[in-house]
Amino acid sequence: FVTMFETVQAAPVDPILGLTDAYKADPDPNKINLGVGVYQDANGVTPVLPSVVEATRRVVAAEKTKSYLPIPGSPQYGAAVQRLMLGAEHEVIASGRGSTSHTPGGTGALRVVGDFLKQNLPAAKLWLTDPTWANHPAIFAAAGVATDSVPYFDSATNGLAFDALLAKLRTLPAGDAVLLHGCCHNPSGIDPTVEQWQQIAQTLAERGVLPVLDFAYQGFGIGLEEDAQGLREFCQTGAELIICSSFSKNFGLYRERVGAVTFIAADADRRDVVQSQVNRVIRTLYSNPPAHGAALVQTILDDDALATQWQAELAEMRTRINGMRTLLVKKLAEHGVPGDYSFIEKQLGMFSFSGLTKQQVERLKQEHSIYMVGSGRINVAGVSAANVDRLCAAIAAVCG
Ligand code: PLP
Repeated sequence: FVTMFETVQAAPVDPILGLTDAYKADPDPNKINLGVGVYQDANGVTPVLPSVVEATRRVVAAEKTKSYLPIPGSPQYGAAVQRLMLGAEHEVIASGRGSTSHTPGGTGALRVVGDFLKQNLPAAKLWLTDPTWANHPAIFAAAGVATDSVPYFDSATNGLAFDALLAKLRTLPAGDAVLLHGCCHNPSGIDPTVEQWQQIAQTLAERGVLPVLDFAYQGFGIGLEEDAQGLREFCQTGAELIICSSFSKNFGLYRERVGAVTFIAADADRRDVVQSQVNRVIRTLYSNPPAHGAALVQTILDDDALATQWQAELAEMRTRINGMRTLLVKKLAEHGVPGDYSFIEKQLGMFSFSGLTKQQVERLKQEHSIYMVGSGRINVAGVSAANVDRLCAAIAAVCG
């Protein structure tokens, strides 16, 4: 045989998914996984939501064909996504200047944006927050889009580096794009206030910089409406933006790969031109989307009773995470961990930037079978009443 693969170099292990493999291989019965961003209940289980179980029953019973969906997926799904993000009465919906495509997860949405930028706005550089989700730079590098970063996290205050962020945004050239997290910033858990969002949106509009919002955690922060407030600041009449949605977390549909990309243009005519290019991108990436997960989301959102039930289930996940934040702060103090950890309670969403160093994170893994990302990012949903004492004792040991 000709050995073409001889020269292929092994890829580095994915920093987050590699952690899950290491956790699974660890024989310690008391091991704790605070790595990958997946919700877990008090028993460490990632549940199928009861509203999703009911929607599945309905979708399977009603299904008449497995024929292809249109390239952007079902139009009813797109309409339901827009109503959830923007509110049913929004001007963008009334004017029909937004178009939503169903993508395989939020990751699929981001990659569609990457290819769209590369093919249609090749001079645009994409600015990412420092820090950001580890997959962001990798996705855009794969699409051939140049990226750079804007300041975001201030380690001195464990808060938003707002002045530095705004100062940097004021220097960006027209025609570039900025990727912001719509809510529950991953990994820092720190979001701008509504007033700060207003200033950011206004600055980008003044400079002619395209906002791209990654919206993967709607409902995990404060609530469905509150979490969308920042994003809606960018949707002023006539403004252009792109929104990447993921329903992996808030519907617990991780493996079904349900997301969406919404391009909002100045008017409905421009929208159609832009969508023709989005369709071209999708056609060459995955041709058209997988139907099942989006049908579940659409079924839930289009049925008042199911939607109400889902909102309660989402609220339960959010409340559990926030309860664990409070417990964590209390237990860290009880176990004598030095420092003020009250910032953990102020962060939003699934993640907390713990402030633990790379070395401390490594010791937690080697000596205590506690797994977290090297940056010290903790998945708070991995904390429970059953493991919090062991966790805080171990943190005390490595911080001592
Ligand atoms: N964006 C952010 C900020 C995320 O944290 C994630 C998932 O971890 C995603 C996008 C992608 O989610 P999905 O699993 O739907 O591709």
